[in-house]
Amino acid sequence: MTPRAAVVVGAGLAGLTTADRLAAQGIDVTVLEARDRVGGRTHGIEVAPGRWIDGGAAYLGERHTELLSLIDELGLKTAPTTMLGASRFALGGEHATRDGRFPPLNAVALGDLFEQLEELTSAVRPEEPWLTPGAEHLDTLTAAEWAEQHLAHPDARLFFPLFLGEMMAADPADLSVLHMAFYLRSGGGLRYLNAFEGGAQQDRVAGGAHQVCERLAERLGVRVRLGEPVRAVHQDAGRVTVVTDQGSYRADVAVLALPPLLADAIEHRPGPPPHRAGERTARGCAIKASLVYPAPLWRDHGLSGWSVNARGPLLSTVDDTPPEGGPGVLTGFVTGAEAHRFGALSAGEQREAAVRQAAQLFPMLPEPLACHVTDWVNEPYSQGCYAALLGPGDWLAHGPALTAPHGRVHFAGTETSTAYFGLMEGAIRSGHRAAAEILARP
Ligand SMILES: Cc1cc2nc3c(=O)[nH]c(=O)nc-3n(C[C@H](O)[C@H](O)[C@H](O)COP(=O)(O)OP(=O)(O)OC[C@H]3O[C@@H](n4cnc5c(N)ncnc54)[C@H](O)[C@@H]3O)c2cc1C
Repeated sequence: MTPRAAVVVGAGLAGLTTADRLAAQGIDVTVLEARDRVGGRTHGIEVAPGRWIDGGAAYLGERHTELLSLIDELGLKTAPTTMLGASRFALGGEHATRDGRFPPLNAVALGDLFEQLEELTSAVRPEEPWLTPGAEHLDTLTAAEWAEQHLAHPDARLFFPLFLGEMMAADPADLSVLHMAFYLRSGGGLRYLNAFEGGAQQDRVAGGAHQVCERLAERLGVRVRLGEPVRAVHQDAGRVTVVTDQGSYRADVAVLALPPLLADAIEHRPGPPPHRAGERTARGCAIKASLVYPAPLWRDHGLSGWSVNARGPLLSTVDDTPPEGGPGVLTGFVTGAEAHRFGALSAGEQREAAVRQAAQLFPMLPEPLACHVTDWVNEPYSQGCYAALLGPGDWLAHGPALTAPHGRVHFAGTETSTAYFGLMEGAIRSGHRAAAEILARP
């Protein structure tokens, strides 16, 4: 018999889409969220009255079909991320200004790097990465070790960690080559993931991606309970009991829609389900530092706001001005190992370092009106972003059981989706899968 009551743990995109689908089928759903807000790794920041930017996830492309249809269904709109103007590069020596986004580095060396990455990416079995030919070897090697062995030219060695930082918020020492290749393939391939126009970063949600979760939560109403960190899930006599700091909830099934490091922290009775993370699973490392100016002044100087930098804290910057045209917002990405260093600074030191670097890159900038730093590495209920980084051994050990239910407990979350893993699209697809599993329960 289809379950009559379900508890969903986590009010991010995965949990809320699961709950939405179950509620639409008449199932009595309760969503338990640890934070005092919904949205998880989507998070809006109001930079001026009624003008929002994304402190978390922002970009989407045409292939993100489930996200796009949800945006449409919820009455939201997308806005293009058009980048007009030249880019700035600080890759050693003088700062350089160039049309387009290709860095002023040895083109043959970078071409060779991308060819090697393409080769790895196209060989991956995206649905079952653990069955990729040579998976055992690829899953023992870190991306840093791979670079050491395969990248001879100093420009390729310089650019590789910057590329992985931007694409995956990863320090190459933290992830296996198998995970790197899988992630790039899962997101649509190198070109698609990396591109603004026509690619995965073509659009934003006008007004902020957090609205998708807020509107889903509005639809679910009192079924969503905030400030309820779940500690344990007990199963007995055909029911589940989900235990929070505030109380306990009984239902026929539960869904854990959490990042793997947090899903593993929940106590289970009986016995733990197969682990979703291992000792080498790392937090994705990204901190966003958004500087607010009266207007996007770089545009008046023919600059797009895009920059790539060998030295931190801002390893890349992007024009994050709200689609309404102001205030001007320059968002810097602090990724990989640099995020740990930056995260350890005081708020004042972070602001000073970000402002100083922005002014070196874009000398026309005055003192900013505000600086918003969103540190995902040290967020206890995210433990990193964009997504967990699977380290050596993780895919082979945990991959095959990624979506397997544990009795009456099901699993969702972007890290359980082999399509668009780590992205909003992956989170939504995982929610749809988990809801379908529950509705199909005998
Ligand atoms: C800076 C940044 C940039 C990103 N950029 C992009 C982008 O441009 N495009 C894109 O598509 N994606 C991007 N992402 C990734 C995207 O945000 C995620 O893939 C997606 O939001 C994950 O959704 P989820 O529901 O799987 O997990 P989450 O959003 O992490 O949701 C999990 C929820 O569970 C809650 N929770 C945790 N532990 C407990 C507990 N014990 N009890 C109860 N609740 C708990 C959390 O508070 C959270 O609300 C980015 C992420 C970040 C942070």
